[in-house]
Amino acid sequence: MKYDCIICVVPFGQEKTPSAGPSVISSVLKRFNFKTKLIDYNINLYNSKEYKTIWNVSNWDEMLNISAYLDTINNEKFNKLLDEWVEYLINQNSKYIAISIFSSLSFPTAFLLIEKLKKYNQKIIIGGSSTEQFLEILQTKNLKTKKIINDIDHVIIGYGEDAIIKILNGTTERTIETYDMDFSKTPIPDYSDLDLEKYEDGSLPLCTSVGCNYNCSFCNRAEKYSYSKKPLELIEKELDQIKYVYKKNRVDLIDNIINFNNSHLLNLCNLFQKYDIEWWCEWRIRKNIPSEIYKKMKESGCYFVAVGIESGSEKVRKHMRKFFTKEMIIDNLKNFSLNNINIKIQLIVGYPNETNEDFQLTVDLIYELIENNIKIHSLGVHPFKITTSELKNLDNPYLDKRIERSEKLFSIMEEFELSKDSATTLAHKYLKKNSY
Ligand code: SF4
Repeated sequence: MKYDCIICVVPFGQEKTPSAGPSVISSVLKRFNFKTKLIDYNINLYNSKEYKTIWNVSNWDEMLNISAYLDTINNEKFNKLLDEWVEYLINQNSKYIAISIFSSLSFPTAFLLIEKLKKYNQKIIIGGSSTEQFLEILQTKNLKTKKIINDIDHVIIGYGEDAIIKILNGTTERTIETYDMDFSKTPIPDYSDLDLEKYEDGSLPLCTSVGCNYNCSFCNRAEKYSYSKKPLELIEKELDQIKYVYKKNRVDLIDNIINFNNSHLLNLCNLFQKYDIEWWCEWRIRKNIPSEIYKKMKESGCYFVAVGIESGSEKVRKHMRKFFTKEMIIDNLKNFSLNNINIKIQLIVGYPNETNEDFQLTVDLIYELIENNIKIHSLGVHPFKITTSELKNLDNPYLDKRIERSEKLFSIMEEFELSKDSATTLAHKYLKKNSY
């Protein structure tokens, strides 16, 4: 047997940086002396001259809907490409193929890859942040998708460090769930199998904490994973690798929440300054953030923050359990603006209790921020999509308002020449097809 496990990242995923999760699993396997290899088929496709058109965003709307996608999979080119991958993988004679299920964008390719590999009786493991949703969708579609569930030999839900070792050591457990993080068992991600030049941003992901102790109604990140900080000495070791082994000067912080704890944030700033590394992060509006923190963030290389404001209406935010006021929003954003840190504002449209008047408050807030000389770089507009069990049972009379409201925000982006990110553009496009 040439390999114990080949880990595959499948399209369609991020093109800017490698995924941290599969690289951690690769590292764990190497630590335990298993023969392993990590292949990022997503980035290979993104960089392929011959097949790049498949990755093109204009095709994503088909990819997003697994059943529609499966009907249109007579895309000969993509089938041919998948057959090439399968031929290669089978020839590697690996005991296991592990497929990373990163988001719903990877569902169709994961489905097809499993189906094709199983024809050769290949043992399959799946894991990754959207594994549960993937299984749910397979279960609710058709017989063909249901059959695939039985073709998967092992399912890893939650953190995979222990689970992958158990599986490779021969456990018969099919589904292994782990929601508690033990940083001492999590090695530094191993990117050595990847060609880092292929990723657009020239950055690497960095996780300095996991989970979140807030409990926003629409977010399933916090449902099962509680907040826990990575010890600073481990972060420092990882920065050492990033800077001196992989020769990168930029990191994307993939923490769910970076400003849960001021002292952790200040410690991080000190480390980034020491390593002369640029960084960006997601931010939760909070009160009483000392102005030195924003200053320190800028001095230590923070160039961008994505801020989850979600709505201009306090009533809507309260329902979401985002208990901050307009004054706190203005205070936090003013401080970023004063320190020349680019701001992206994340907004949700069509939330279950968002009336026309509430939406107008969102529009008013954006104008007010701009009038207050807060320099907004971009808006991330997310049409409301049910993700948590809590919201599934609520009536939502405003769902059909999502297109109109997104369009209004798009017109504001154009008026003030703000950037739109690809997720916003994609969600909007998908929404127009009424299938989101
Ligand atoms: S603060 Fe962010 S990560 Fe935490 S529950 Fe709310 S949306 Fe989720």
